[in-house]
Amino acid sequence: MTDNDYFYHPLENIEDIDIFYDAVERTHLTKALSPERPYTYWTIELYDKKNGIRGGGGLGVLAADTRRIAEKMQIPFTLITPFYPFESHQQMENGFIKDIRKPVDYHDFGYQFIDNVFIKCCGTLCKLDVIEKKFMSSRIIAITEPNFGELYSGLSGSDHRLYQEVALGFGGYAALKLIGLKPAIMQLNEIATFFAALARLDELSSNGMDFYEAMVYTRKHTLYTNHTLVQAAEAEFSYEQFTRFVFPNLKSAAVKKWLSDKFDRGHIKLSSATIEIAELKSGVSKLHARVANYHDVSGNKVKFKAITNGIDLDTWTMPCVLDFYHDYAILDDVNLPTEVYLQKLSALTADSIRRFKSNGREILNECLKSRPDQNGKILHFDSNDFIFDFKRRFVDYKRPDLPFRDITRLLNILEPRGAHYILTGRIHTGDTIMSSKLKYILNLVDSDDYLREHVHYLVDYDEELAFGLSCGSNVAINVPIVGLEACGTSWMKDVANLNLLISTHDGGVADAHMNDYFNVNGKNEGDELDMLYQQMQDTIAVWENDFDLEFMIQHQLSAFLPIISGARMMNDYLHKFRHILDFPATNQ
Ligand SMILES: *Cc1c(COP(=O)(O)O)cnc(C)c1O
Repeated sequence: MTDNDYFYHPLENIEDIDIFYDAVERTHLTKALSPERPYTYWTIELYDKKNGIRGGGGLGVLAADTRRIAEKMQIPFTLITPFYPFESHQQMENGFIKDIRKPVDYHDFGYQFIDNVFIKCCGTLCKLDVIEKKFMSSRIIAITEPNFGELYSGLSGSDHRLYQEVALGFGGYAALKLIGLKPAIMQLNEIATFFAALARLDELSSNGMDFYEAMVYTRKHTLYTNHTLVQAAEAEFSYEQFTRFVFPNLKSAAVKKWLSDKFDRGHIKLSSATIEIAELKSGVSKLHARVANYHDVSGNKVKFKAITNGIDLDTWTMPCVLDFYHDYAILDDVNLPTEVYLQKLSALTADSIRRFKSNGREILNECLKSRPDQNGKILHFDSNDFIFDFKRRFVDYKRPDLPFRDITRLLNILEPRGAHYILTGRIHTGDTIMSSKLKYILNLVDSDDYLREHVHYLVDYDEELAFGLSCGSNVAINVPIVGLEACGTSWMKDVANLNLLISTHDGGVADAHMNDYFNVNGKNEGDELDMLYQQMQDTIAVWENDFDLEFMIQHQLSAFLPIISGARMMNDYLHKFRHILDFPATNQ
Protein backbone atom coordinates (compact mmCIF):
# COMPACT_ATOMS: atom_id res chain seq x y z
CA MET A 1 0.00 0.00 0.00
CA THR A 2 2.84 2.36 0.72
CA ASP A 3 4.85 1.23 -2.25
CA ASN A 4 3.82 3.73 -4.84
CA ASP A 5 6.14 2.63 -7.60
CA TYR A 6 3.24 1.89 -9.85
CA PHE A 7 2.63 5.58 -10.22
CA TYR A 8 5.54 5.66 -12.58
CA HIS A 9 4.51 2.74 -14.76
CA PRO A 10 3.05 3.45 -18.16
CA LEU A 11 -0.28 1.95 -18.96
CA GLU A 12 -0.07 -1.68 -19.95
CA ASN A 13 -3.57 -2.88 -19.70
CA ILE A 14 -6.20 -1.06 -21.69
CA GLU A 15 -8.76 -3.86 -21.93
CA ASP A 16 -11.18 -2.33 -19.49
CA ILE A 17 -11.09 1.13 -20.99
CA ASP A 18 -14.35 1.80 -22.58
CA ILE A 19 -14.31 1.36 -26.32
CA PHE A 20 -15.37 4.85 -27.11
CA TYR A 21 -12.26 6.30 -25.48
CA ASP A 22 -10.06 3.52 -26.68
CA ALA A 23 -9.95 4.95 -30.17
CA VAL A 24 -9.12 8.42 -28.95
CA GLU A 25 -6.57 7.19 -26.48
CA ARG A 26 -4.53 4.79 -28.56
CA THR A 27 -1.94 7.40 -29.33
CA HIS A 28 -1.67 8.60 -25.75
CA LEU A 29 -0.96 5.56 -23.71
CA THR A 30 1.64 6.90 -21.34
CA LYS A 31 -0.55 8.93 -19.13
CA ALA A 32 0.38 7.32 -15.86
CA LEU A 33 1.67 9.88 -13.46
CA SER A 34 5.28 10.95 -13.54
CA PRO A 35 7.12 14.09 -12.48
CA GLU A 36 6.60 15.50 -15.96
CA ARG A 37 3.00 14.31 -16.17
CA PRO A 38 1.70 15.07 -12.71
CA TYR A 39 -1.71 15.10 -11.13
CA THR A 40 -2.54 18.81 -11.30
CA TYR A 41 -4.76 20.49 -8.75
CA TRP A 42 -6.17 23.94 -9.52
CA THR A 43 -7.43 26.16 -6.76
CA ILE A 44 -8.17 29.87 -6.40
CA GLU A 45 -7.65 29.48 -2.64
CA LEU A 46 -4.89 27.76 -0.74
CA TYR A 47 -4.66 27.89 3.03
CA ASP A 48 -1.08 26.98 3.79
CA LYS A 49 0.52 29.73 5.87
CA LYS A 50 3.72 27.74 6.33
CA ASN A 51 4.13 28.13 2.60
CA GLY A 52 3.18 31.79 2.66
CA ILE A 53 -0.43 31.60 1.59
CA ARG A 54 -3.28 32.39 3.92
CA GLY A 55 -6.72 31.39 2.70
CA GLY A 56 -10.25 32.19 3.73
CA GLY A 57 -11.59 28.86 4.93
CA GLY A 58 -12.26 25.21 4.27
CA LEU A 59 -11.76 25.24 0.50
CA GLY A 60 -8.18 26.42 0.93
CA VAL A 61 -7.44 24.13 3.87
CA LEU A 62 -8.60 21.20 1.76
CA ALA A 63 -6.27 22.22 -1.07
CA ALA A 64 -3.28 22.45 1.28
CA ASP A 65 -4.12 19.10 2.85
CA THR A 66 -4.53 17.44 -0.54
CA ARG A 67 -1.01 18.46 -1.56
CA ARG A 68 0.51 17.32 1.73
CA ILE A 69 -1.24 13.96 1.43
CA ALA A 70 -0.03 13.52 -2.16
CA GLU A 71 3.47 14.35 -0.95
CA LYS A 72 3.25 11.71 1.77
CA MET A 73 1.96 9.17 -0.75
CA GLN A 74 4.78 10.12 -3.16
CA ILE A 75 2.34 11.07 -5.87
CA PRO A 76 3.68 13.40 -8.57
CA PHE A 77 1.43 16.35 -7.83
CA THR A 78 1.39 19.98 -8.88
CA LEU A 79 -0.84 22.52 -7.22
CA ILE A 80 -1.50 25.72 -9.17
CA THR A 81 -2.83 28.72 -7.29
CA PRO A 82 -2.51 32.50 -7.09
CA PHE A 83 -0.05 34.09 -4.70
CA TYR A 84 -1.95 37.09 -3.38
CA PRO A 85 0.40 39.96 -2.50
CA PHE A 86 -1.89 40.92 0.40
CA GLU A 87 -3.58 38.81 3.01
CA SER A 88 -6.60 39.67 5.05
CA HIS A 89 -6.81 39.74 8.85
CA GLN A 90 -9.47 40.84 11.29
CA GLN A 91 -9.37 42.95 14.42
CA MET A 92 -11.91 43.85 17.03
CA GLU A 93 -12.61 47.56 17.41
CA ASN A 94 -15.33 48.81 19.78
CA GLY A 95 -17.08 45.49 19.50
CA PHE A 96 -17.00 45.50 15.71
CA ILE A 97 -14.89 43.37 13.40
CA LYS A 98 -12.55 45.38 11.24
CA ASP A 99 -10.71 44.02 8.20
CA ILE A 100 -7.08 44.88 7.72
CA ARG A 101 -4.62 43.77 5.07
CA LYS A 102 -0.99 42.87 5.34
CA PRO A 103 1.51 42.66 2.50
CA VAL A 104 3.23 39.31 1.94
CA ASP A 105 6.44 38.67 0.04
CA TYR A 106 6.85 35.28 -1.59
CA HIS A 107 10.63 35.45 -1.19
CA ASP A 108 10.12 34.98 2.54
CA PHE A 109 8.58 31.56 1.98
CA GLY A 110 11.04 29.78 -0.27
CA TYR A 111 9.48 30.46 -3.63
CA GLN A 112 11.63 30.92 -6.67
CA PHE A 113 10.84 33.21 -9.54
CA ILE A 114 10.69 31.15 -12.76
CA ASP A 115 9.67 33.50 -15.56
CA ASN A 116 6.83 35.61 -16.87
CA VAL A 117 3.77 34.54 -18.77
CA PHE A 118 1.28 36.83 -20.48
CA ILE A 119 -2.46 36.95 -20.82
CA LYS A 120 -4.59 39.39 -22.81
CA CYS A 121 -6.98 41.56 -20.84
CA CYS A 122 -8.92 44.64 -21.96
CA GLY A 123 -6.80 45.12 -25.05
CA THR A 124 -3.45 44.94 -23.31
CA LEU A 125 -0.94 42.27 -22.45
CA CYS A 126 -0.79 41.51 -18.74
CA LYS A 127 2.48 40.29 -17.36
CA LEU A 128 2.25 37.59 -14.69
CA ASP A 129 5.06 36.23 -12.54
CA VAL A 130 5.37 32.47 -12.27
CA ILE A 131 6.87 31.36 -8.98
CA GLU A 132 7.51 27.88 -7.75
CA LYS A 133 8.18 25.97 -4.57
CA LYS A 134 9.29 22.37 -4.90
CA PHE A 135 8.91 19.58 -2.39
CA MET A 136 9.76 15.91 -2.94
CA SER A 137 7.00 14.63 -5.19
CA SER A 138 4.84 17.74 -5.17
CA ARG A 139 5.20 21.39 -5.97
CA ILE A 140 3.28 24.62 -5.74
CA ILE A 141 3.25 26.80 -8.82
CA ALA A 142 1.82 30.22 -8.13
CA ILE A 143 0.76 33.04 -10.40
CA THR A 144 1.17 36.55 -9.11
CA GLU A 145 1.86 40.21 -9.88
CA PRO A 146 1.93 43.28 -7.65
CA ASN A 147 -1.67 44.27 -8.43
CA PHE A 148 -3.16 40.81 -8.21
CA GLY A 149 -5.24 41.91 -5.22
CA GLU A 150 -6.53 39.85 -2.35
CA LEU A 151 -8.37 36.57 -2.16
CA TYR A 152 -12.08 37.08 -2.85
CA SER A 153 -11.72 40.85 -3.04
CA GLY A 154 -14.60 42.59 -4.77
CA LEU A 155 -17.89 41.04 -5.79
CA SER A 156 -17.95 37.54 -7.23
CA GLY A 157 -19.17 38.64 -10.68
CA SER A 158 -16.74 41.57 -10.85
CA ASP A 159 -14.04 42.30 -13.42
CA HIS A 160 -11.33 41.80 -10.84
CA ARG A 161 -12.50 38.32 -9.90
CA LEU A 162 -12.71 37.38 -13.57
CA TYR A 163 -9.22 38.73 -14.08
CA GLN A 164 -7.89 36.64 -11.16
CA GLU A 165 -9.60 33.51 -12.46
CA VAL A 166 -8.41 34.04 -16.04
CA ALA A 167 -4.88 34.75 -14.80
CA LEU A 168 -4.87 31.51 -12.81
CA GLY A 169 -6.32 29.44 -15.66
CA PHE A 170 -4.57 30.75 -18.75
CA GLY A 171 -1.50 31.99 -16.88
CA GLY A 172 -1.20 28.76 -14.90
CA TYR A 173 -1.58 26.61 -17.99
CA ALA A 174 1.11 28.63 -19.76
CA ALA A 175 3.30 28.27 -16.67
CA LEU A 176 3.07 24.48 -16.83
CA LYS A 177 4.19 24.54 -20.44
CA LEU A 178 7.03 26.85 -19.54
CA ILE A 179 8.24 24.44 -16.86
CA GLY A 180 7.72 21.44 -19.13
CA LEU A 181 4.85 19.81 -17.26
CA LYS A 182 1.90 18.16 -18.96
CA PRO A 183 -1.08 17.48 -16.72
CA ALA A 184 -2.07 13.82 -16.57
CA ILE A 185 -5.13 14.86 -14.60
CA MET A 186 -6.66 18.25 -13.97
CA GLN A 187 -8.66 18.53 -10.80
CA LEU A 188 -10.66 21.75 -10.69
CA ASN A 189 -11.29 22.76 -7.09
CA GLU A 190 -14.53 24.67 -7.76
CA ILE A 191 -15.57 26.60 -10.86
CA ALA A 192 -13.21 29.55 -10.35
CA THR A 193 -10.54 27.32 -11.92
CA PHE A 194 -12.57 26.52 -15.05
CA PHE A 195 -10.23 28.56 -17.27
CA ALA A 196 -7.39 26.07 -16.78
CA ALA A 197 -9.40 23.35 -18.51
CA LEU A 198 -10.51 25.87 -21.12
CA ALA A 199 -6.87 26.73 -21.83
CA ARG A 200 -6.13 23.07 -22.40
CA LEU A 201 -9.14 22.60 -24.68
CA ASP A 202 -8.05 25.63 -26.67
CA GLU A 203 -4.48 24.43 -26.97
CA LEU A 204 -5.49 21.00 -28.22
CA SER A 205 -8.10 22.31 -30.54
CA SER A 206 -5.84 24.93 -32.10
CA ASN A 207 -2.98 22.43 -32.48
CA GLY A 208 -4.53 20.05 -34.97
CA MET A 209 -7.08 18.00 -33.04
CA ASP A 210 -10.58 18.63 -34.20
CA PHE A 211 -12.81 20.25 -31.63
CA TYR A 212 -14.75 17.11 -30.82
CA GLU A 213 -11.61 15.08 -30.23
CA ALA A 214 -10.08 17.86 -28.12
CA MET A 215 -13.23 18.04 -26.03
CA VAL A 216 -13.29 14.29 -25.45
CA TYR A 217 -9.64 14.35 -24.44
CA THR A 218 -10.01 17.32 -22.08
CA ARG A 219 -13.18 15.93 -20.54
CA LYS A 220 -11.66 12.59 -19.89
CA HIS A 221 -8.75 14.04 -17.93
CA THR A 222 -10.66 16.62 -15.97
CA LEU A 223 -12.43 16.35 -12.63
CA TYR A 224 -14.62 19.12 -11.33
CA THR A 225 -15.01 19.15 -7.56
CA ASN A 226 -18.09 21.03 -6.47
CA HIS A 227 -18.43 22.46 -2.97
CA THR A 228 -21.62 24.44 -3.45
CA LEU A 229 -25.21 23.32 -3.19
CA VAL A 230 -27.24 25.57 -5.39
CA GLN A 231 -26.34 26.66 -8.86
CA ALA A 232 -28.87 29.47 -8.61
CA ALA A 233 -26.68 31.27 -6.05
CA GLU A 234 -23.71 31.32 -8.42
CA ALA A 235 -22.53 34.70 -9.69
CA GLU A 236 -22.64 35.32 -13.43
CA PHE A 237 -20.35 37.05 -15.87
CA SER A 238 -21.57 38.99 -18.87
CA TYR A 239 -20.69 38.41 -22.50
CA GLU A 240 -19.16 41.85 -22.53
CA GLN A 241 -16.79 40.90 -19.68
CA PHE A 242 -15.78 37.81 -21.64
CA THR A 243 -14.98 39.92 -24.72
CA ARG A 244 -12.47 41.79 -22.57
CA PHE A 245 -10.97 39.00 -20.44
CA VAL A 246 -11.61 35.60 -21.96
CA PHE A 247 -12.14 35.54 -25.74
CA PRO A 248 -8.87 37.40 -26.49
CA ASN A 249 -7.00 34.48 -24.88
CA LEU A 250 -8.62 31.84 -27.09
CA LYS A 251 -7.10 30.83 -30.41
CA SER A 252 -9.64 28.28 -31.57
CA ALA A 253 -12.80 29.60 -33.23
CA ALA A 254 -14.58 26.35 -32.37
CA VAL A 255 -13.80 26.77 -28.67
CA LYS A 256 -15.07 30.37 -28.78
CA LYS A 257 -18.25 29.12 -30.42
CA TRP A 258 -18.70 26.38 -27.81
CA LEU A 259 -18.18 28.85 -24.97
CA SER A 260 -20.50 31.44 -26.53
CA ASP A 261 -23.26 28.84 -26.59
CA LYS A 262 -23.11 28.65 -22.81
CA PHE A 263 -24.43 32.19 -22.46
CA ASP A 264 -28.04 32.62 -21.58
CA ARG A 265 -29.46 36.10 -22.25
CA GLY A 266 -25.99 37.57 -22.31
CA HIS A 267 -24.77 35.95 -19.08
CA ILE A 268 -22.82 32.85 -18.18
CA LYS A 269 -22.56 30.74 -15.07
CA LEU A 270 -19.14 29.11 -15.14
CA SER A 271 -20.66 25.89 -13.79
CA SER A 272 -22.58 25.32 -17.02
CA ALA A 273 -19.31 25.23 -18.97
CA THR A 274 -17.38 23.39 -16.23
CA ILE A 275 -19.97 20.61 -16.16
CA GLU A 276 -19.34 19.99 -19.86
CA ILE A 277 -15.57 20.23 -19.84
CA ALA A 278 -15.18 17.71 -16.97
CA GLU A 279 -16.40 14.19 -17.37
CA LEU A 280 -15.94 13.39 -13.70
CA LYS A 281 -17.84 15.57 -11.30
CA SER A 282 -17.62 15.11 -7.58
CA GLY A 283 -19.29 16.43 -4.47
CA VAL A 284 -17.46 16.56 -1.15
CA SER A 285 -19.61 14.22 0.98
CA LYS A 286 -22.20 11.55 0.34
CA LEU A 287 -25.05 13.82 1.31
CA HIS A 288 -23.69 16.72 -0.71
CA ALA A 289 -23.28 14.62 -3.87
CA ARG A 290 -26.92 13.60 -3.51
CA VAL A 291 -28.40 17.02 -2.87
CA ALA A 292 -26.24 19.35 -5.00
CA ASN A 293 -28.72 20.78 -7.44
CA TYR A 294 -27.04 21.46 -10.80
CA HIS A 295 -28.34 21.25 -14.33
CA ASP A 296 -26.54 21.27 -17.65
CA VAL A 297 -27.52 23.63 -20.46
CA SER A 298 -30.11 21.14 -21.73
CA GLY A 299 -31.73 21.08 -18.30
CA ASN A 300 -30.56 17.60 -17.25
CA LYS A 301 -29.63 17.13 -13.62
CA VAL A 302 -25.88 16.68 -13.08
CA LYS A 303 -24.74 13.49 -11.35
CA PHE A 304 -21.99 14.04 -8.81
CA LYS A 305 -19.86 11.19 -7.47
CA ALA A 306 -19.33 11.35 -3.74
CA ILE A 307 -15.74 11.75 -2.58
CA THR A 308 -15.89 12.92 0.99
CA ASN A 309 -13.17 15.35 2.01
CA GLY A 310 -10.51 14.16 4.39
CA ILE A 311 -7.81 15.92 6.35
CA ASP A 312 -4.07 15.50 6.49
CA LEU A 313 -3.86 13.71 9.81
CA ASP A 314 -0.14 14.52 10.16
CA THR A 315 -0.98 18.21 10.12
CA TRP A 316 -4.11 18.14 12.24
CA THR A 317 -3.48 15.52 14.92
CA MET A 318 -1.52 16.49 18.01
CA PRO A 319 1.81 14.63 18.07
CA CYS A 320 1.14 12.38 21.08
CA VAL A 321 -2.14 11.14 19.63
CA LEU A 322 -0.65 10.66 16.18
CA ASP A 323 2.16 8.60 17.70
CA PHE A 324 -0.43 6.53 19.51
CA TYR A 325 -2.32 5.86 16.25
CA HIS A 326 0.91 4.69 14.64
CA ASP A 327 2.34 2.75 17.58
CA TYR A 328 -0.89 0.80 17.96
CA ALA A 329 -1.28 0.20 14.21
CA ILE A 330 -4.53 2.15 14.10
CA LEU A 331 -3.23 4.18 11.17
CA ASP A 332 -0.65 3.01 8.64
CA ASP A 333 2.22 5.19 7.51
CA VAL A 334 0.14 7.19 5.02
CA ASN A 335 -2.55 7.51 7.71
CA LEU A 336 -5.11 5.11 6.32
CA PRO A 337 -6.90 3.12 9.02
CA THR A 338 -5.40 -0.37 9.07
CA GLU A 339 -7.37 -3.59 8.74
CA VAL A 340 -7.12 -4.05 12.49
CA TYR A 341 -7.90 -0.48 13.53
CA LEU A 342 -11.23 -1.38 15.15
CA GLN A 343 -9.69 -3.87 17.56
CA LYS A 344 -6.68 -1.67 18.22
CA LEU A 345 -8.80 1.26 19.29
CA SER A 346 -9.57 -0.60 22.50
CA ALA A 347 -6.10 0.45 23.69
CA LEU A 348 -7.43 3.98 24.01
CA THR A 349 -8.34 4.07 27.69
CA ALA A 350 -9.91 6.93 29.62
CA ASP A 351 -6.55 7.42 31.29
CA SER A 352 -4.72 7.85 28.04
CA ILE A 353 -7.47 10.09 26.65
CA ARG A 354 -7.15 12.39 29.68
CA ARG A 355 -3.38 12.36 29.42
CA PHE A 356 -3.47 13.23 25.71
CA LYS A 357 -6.01 15.97 26.27
CA SER A 358 -4.00 17.61 29.02
CA ASN A 359 -1.12 17.63 26.57
CA GLY A 360 -3.48 19.23 24.05
CA ARG A 361 -4.41 21.87 26.56
CA GLU A 362 -0.78 22.99 26.70
CA ILE A 363 -0.82 23.37 22.92
CA LEU A 364 -3.97 25.47 23.23
CA ASN A 365 -2.52 27.64 26.02
CA GLU A 366 0.55 28.31 23.91
CA CYS A 367 -1.61 29.36 21.00
CA LEU A 368 -3.76 31.64 23.20
CA LYS A 369 -0.77 33.61 24.51
CA SER A 370 -0.97 36.01 21.58
CA ARG A 371 -4.76 36.05 21.22
CA PRO A 372 -6.73 37.99 23.82
CA ASP A 373 -10.50 37.45 24.03
CA GLN A 374 -13.13 40.18 23.51
CA ASN A 375 -12.33 41.63 26.94
CA GLY A 376 -8.65 41.89 26.15
CA LYS A 377 -7.88 39.00 28.49
CA ILE A 378 -5.22 36.39 27.78
CA LEU A 379 -6.74 33.00 28.49
CA HIS A 380 -5.05 30.10 30.19
CA PHE A 381 -6.75 26.81 31.01
CA ASP A 382 -5.66 24.03 33.30
CA SER A 383 -6.43 20.40 32.59
CA ASN A 384 -9.46 20.43 34.87
CA ASP A 385 -11.26 23.19 33.02
CA PHE A 386 -14.06 22.22 30.71
CA ILE A 387 -14.19 23.81 27.24
CA PHE A 388 -16.87 23.81 24.57
CA ASP A 389 -15.84 25.38 21.30
CA PHE A 390 -17.44 26.63 18.15
CA LYS A 391 -14.79 27.37 15.52
CA ARG A 392 -15.79 27.83 11.93
CA ARG A 393 -16.45 30.54 9.43
CA PHE A 394 -19.14 32.88 10.69
CA VAL A 395 -21.87 32.36 8.14
CA ASP A 396 -25.56 32.18 8.84
CA TYR A 397 -26.15 28.55 7.89
CA LYS A 398 -23.53 27.35 10.40
CA ARG A 399 -25.58 29.01 13.15
CA PRO A 400 -22.88 30.32 15.51
CA ASP A 401 -25.71 31.99 17.44
CA LEU A 402 -27.75 28.82 18.04
CA PRO A 403 -26.36 28.04 21.54
CA PHE A 404 -27.11 31.64 22.56
CA ARG A 405 -30.82 31.53 21.73
CA ASP A 406 -31.73 30.77 25.35
CA ILE A 407 -29.09 32.37 27.49
CA THR A 408 -30.56 31.07 30.78
CA ARG A 409 -30.38 27.46 29.67
CA LEU A 410 -26.86 27.97 28.40
CA LEU A 411 -25.93 29.44 31.76
CA ASN A 412 -27.53 26.51 33.58
CA ILE A 413 -25.36 24.09 31.62
CA LEU A 414 -22.08 25.95 31.89
CA GLU A 415 -22.17 27.33 35.43
CA PRO A 416 -22.53 24.14 37.53
CA ARG A 417 -19.42 22.72 35.83
CA GLY A 418 -17.59 26.03 35.67
CA ALA A 419 -17.37 25.40 31.92
CA HIS A 420 -16.06 27.78 29.27
CA TYR A 421 -17.36 28.38 25.77
CA ILE A 422 -14.91 29.54 23.11
CA LEU A 423 -16.26 31.07 19.96
CA THR A 424 -14.17 31.92 16.92
CA GLY A 425 -14.57 32.22 13.20
CA ARG A 426 -13.90 34.52 10.31
CA ILE A 427 -16.66 36.85 9.21
CA HIS A 428 -16.66 37.33 5.47
CA THR A 429 -15.38 40.80 4.55
CA GLY A 430 -18.33 43.16 4.39
CA ASP A 431 -20.83 40.71 5.89
CA THR A 432 -22.64 43.24 8.10
CA ILE A 433 -25.40 40.80 9.04
CA MET A 434 -22.99 38.36 10.68
CA SER A 435 -21.03 41.23 12.18
CA SER A 436 -24.19 42.42 13.91
CA LYS A 437 -25.06 38.89 15.03
CA LEU A 438 -21.67 38.60 16.68
CA LYS A 439 -22.14 41.97 18.36
CA TYR A 440 -25.55 40.81 19.57
CA ILE A 441 -24.09 37.60 21.03
CA LEU A 442 -21.28 39.47 22.75
CA ASN A 443 -23.74 41.95 24.26
CA LEU A 444 -25.80 39.08 25.65
CA VAL A 445 -22.67 37.53 27.08
CA ASP A 446 -21.59 40.82 28.57
CA SER A 447 -24.90 41.24 30.36
CA ASP A 448 -24.27 38.26 32.62
CA ASP A 449 -21.54 38.04 35.25
CA TYR A 450 -20.80 34.35 34.68
CA LEU A 451 -20.93 34.39 30.90
CA ARG A 452 -18.77 37.51 30.68
CA GLU A 453 -15.96 35.55 32.34
CA HIS A 454 -16.58 32.20 30.62
CA VAL A 455 -17.65 32.87 27.03
CA HIS A 456 -14.73 34.01 24.93
CA TYR A 457 -14.66 35.31 21.42
CA LEU A 458 -11.30 35.06 19.64
CA VAL A 459 -10.74 37.23 16.61
CA ASP A 460 -8.73 36.46 13.44
CA TYR A 461 -9.48 32.73 13.28
CA ASP A 462 -6.82 30.81 11.40
CA GLU A 463 -5.23 27.37 11.05
CA GLU A 464 -3.21 27.72 14.22
CA LEU A 465 -6.28 28.46 16.31
CA ALA A 466 -8.25 25.69 14.59
CA PHE A 467 -5.49 23.28 15.56
CA GLY A 468 -5.07 24.65 19.09
CA LEU A 469 -8.76 24.35 19.87
CA SER A 470 -9.10 20.87 18.43
CA CYS A 471 -6.20 19.81 20.66
CA GLY A 472 -7.29 21.63 23.78
CA SER A 473 -11.06 21.66 24.08
CA ASN A 474 -13.42 18.92 25.29
CA VAL A 475 -16.46 19.27 23.10
CA ALA A 476 -16.83 20.73 19.62
CA ILE A 477 -20.13 22.15 18.43
CA ASN A 478 -21.05 21.90 14.75
CA VAL A 479 -24.65 22.82 14.02
CA PRO A 480 -25.15 23.79 10.37
CA ILE A 481 -28.72 23.83 9.07
CA VAL A 482 -29.14 20.33 7.66
CA GLY A 483 -28.65 20.25 3.92
CA LEU A 484 -26.45 23.34 3.74
CA GLU A 485 -22.97 22.14 4.76
CA ALA A 486 -21.18 20.55 1.82
CA CYS A 487 -18.70 18.68 4.03
CA GLY A 488 -16.94 20.73 6.67
CA THR A 489 -13.55 19.67 7.97
CA SER A 490 -13.26 21.43 11.35
CA TRP A 491 -15.13 18.61 13.04
CA MET A 492 -12.65 16.12 11.55
CA LYS A 493 -9.82 17.83 13.44
CA ASP A 494 -11.89 17.47 16.62
CA VAL A 495 -12.55 13.78 16.09
CA ALA A 496 -8.86 13.13 15.38
CA ASN A 497 -7.89 14.93 18.60
CA LEU A 498 -10.33 13.08 20.85
CA ASN A 499 -12.96 15.76 21.41
CA LEU A 500 -16.58 14.80 21.71
CA LEU A 501 -18.53 16.02 18.72
CA ILE A 502 -21.98 17.55 18.95
CA SER A 503 -23.32 17.96 15.45
CA THR A 504 -26.31 18.10 13.19
CA HIS A 505 -26.45 15.25 10.67
CA ASP A 506 -25.03 17.19 7.78
CA GLY A 507 -22.07 17.39 5.39
CA GLY A 508 -19.40 14.77 5.91
CA VAL A 509 -20.71 14.01 9.41
CA ALA A 510 -23.73 12.41 7.70
CA ASP A 511 -21.42 9.84 6.04
CA ALA A 512 -21.64 8.14 9.46
CA HIS A 513 -24.72 7.21 11.48
CA MET A 514 -26.58 9.47 13.86
CA ASN A 515 -25.63 7.35 16.86
CA ASP A 516 -21.91 7.61 16.10
CA TYR A 517 -21.70 11.02 17.79
CA PHE A 518 -23.82 13.43 19.84
CA ASN A 519 -26.43 14.13 17.26
CA VAL A 520 -28.64 17.22 17.10
CA ASN A 521 -31.80 16.74 15.12
CA GLY A 522 -35.42 17.75 15.25
CA LYS A 523 -38.38 18.81 13.20
CA ASN A 524 -37.68 22.48 13.71
CA GLU A 525 -35.10 24.80 15.17
CA GLY A 526 -36.79 24.73 18.58
CA ASP A 527 -36.41 20.94 18.74
CA GLU A 528 -32.83 21.21 17.60
CA LEU A 529 -32.10 23.77 20.28
CA ASP A 530 -33.55 21.49 22.99
CA MET A 531 -31.41 18.68 21.72
CA LEU A 532 -28.29 20.82 21.52
CA TYR A 533 -28.65 21.81 25.18
CA GLN A 534 -29.38 18.21 26.12
CA GLN A 535 -26.25 17.02 24.33
CA MET A 536 -24.13 19.72 25.95
CA GLN A 537 -25.35 18.50 29.30
CA ASP A 538 -24.67 14.88 28.33
CA THR A 539 -21.15 15.52 27.08
CA ILE A 540 -20.26 17.14 30.39
CA ALA A 541 -21.47 13.97 32.10
CA VAL A 542 -19.51 11.75 29.71
CA TRP A 543 -16.28 13.57 30.53
CA GLU A 544 -16.95 12.83 34.24
CA ASN A 545 -17.20 9.10 33.65
CA ASP A 546 -14.28 6.95 32.52
CA PHE A 547 -16.35 4.17 31.07
CA ASP A 548 -18.56 6.49 29.01
CA LEU A 549 -15.64 8.60 27.89
CA GLU A 550 -13.68 5.60 26.65
CA PHE A 551 -16.75 4.17 24.95
CA MET A 552 -17.74 7.37 23.15
CA ILE A 553 -14.26 8.38 21.99
CA GLN A 554 -13.57 4.86 20.70
CA HIS A 555 -16.97 4.80 19.04
CA GLN A 556 -16.40 8.16 17.30
CA LEU A 557 -13.03 7.05 16.01
CA SER A 558 -14.39 3.69 14.82
CA ALA A 559 -16.99 5.42 12.74
CA PHE A 560 -15.02 8.43 11.56
CA LEU A 561 -11.37 7.47 11.05
CA PRO A 562 -12.00 6.01 7.57
CA ILE A 563 -14.06 9.08 6.68
CA ILE A 564 -11.62 11.74 7.87
CA SER A 565 -8.47 10.06 6.51
CA GLY A 566 -7.05 12.24 3.76
CA ALA A 567 -5.25 9.26 2.26
CA ARG A 568 -8.65 7.61 1.87
CA MET A 569 -9.81 10.73 -0.02
CA MET A 570 -6.73 10.71 -2.26
CA ASN A 571 -7.19 7.02 -3.01
CA ASP A 572 -10.82 7.66 -3.87
CA TYR A 573 -9.80 10.37 -6.35
CA LEU A 574 -7.15 8.18 -7.95
CA HIS A 575 -9.59 5.31 -8.10
CA LYS A 576 -12.03 7.40 -10.12
CA PHE A 577 -9.25 7.93 -12.65
CA ARG A 578 -8.09 4.33 -12.71
CA HIS A 579 -9.14 3.97 -16.37
CA ILE A 580 -6.42 6.42 -17.36
CA LEU A 581 -3.95 5.68 -14.60
CA ASP A 582 -4.13 1.90 -14.74
CA PHE A 583 -4.21 2.27 -11.07
CA PRO A 584 -4.83 -0.70 -8.79
CA ALA A 585 -7.40 0.12 -6.15
CA THR A 586 -5.55 0.57 -2.89
CA ASN A 587 -8.36 1.46 -0.57
CA GLN A 588 -9.79 -1.99 -0.16
C1 LIG B 1 -10.30 23.52 9.14
C2 LIG B 1 -10.49 24.96 8.87
C3 LIG B 1 -11.64 25.41 8.19
C4 LIG B 1 -12.72 24.47 7.74
O1 LIG B 1 -13.93 24.92 8.29
P1 LIG B 1 -15.32 24.21 8.13
O2 LIG B 1 -16.25 25.22 8.63
O3 LIG B 1 -15.34 22.98 8.93
O4 LIG B 1 -15.49 23.93 6.67
C5 LIG B 1 -11.79 26.77 7.97
N1 LIG B 1 -10.85 27.67 8.37
C6 LIG B 1 -9.74 27.26 9.02
C7 LIG B 1 -8.74 28.28 9.44
C8 LIG B 1 -9.52 25.91 9.28
O5 LIG B 1 -8.40 25.53 9.92
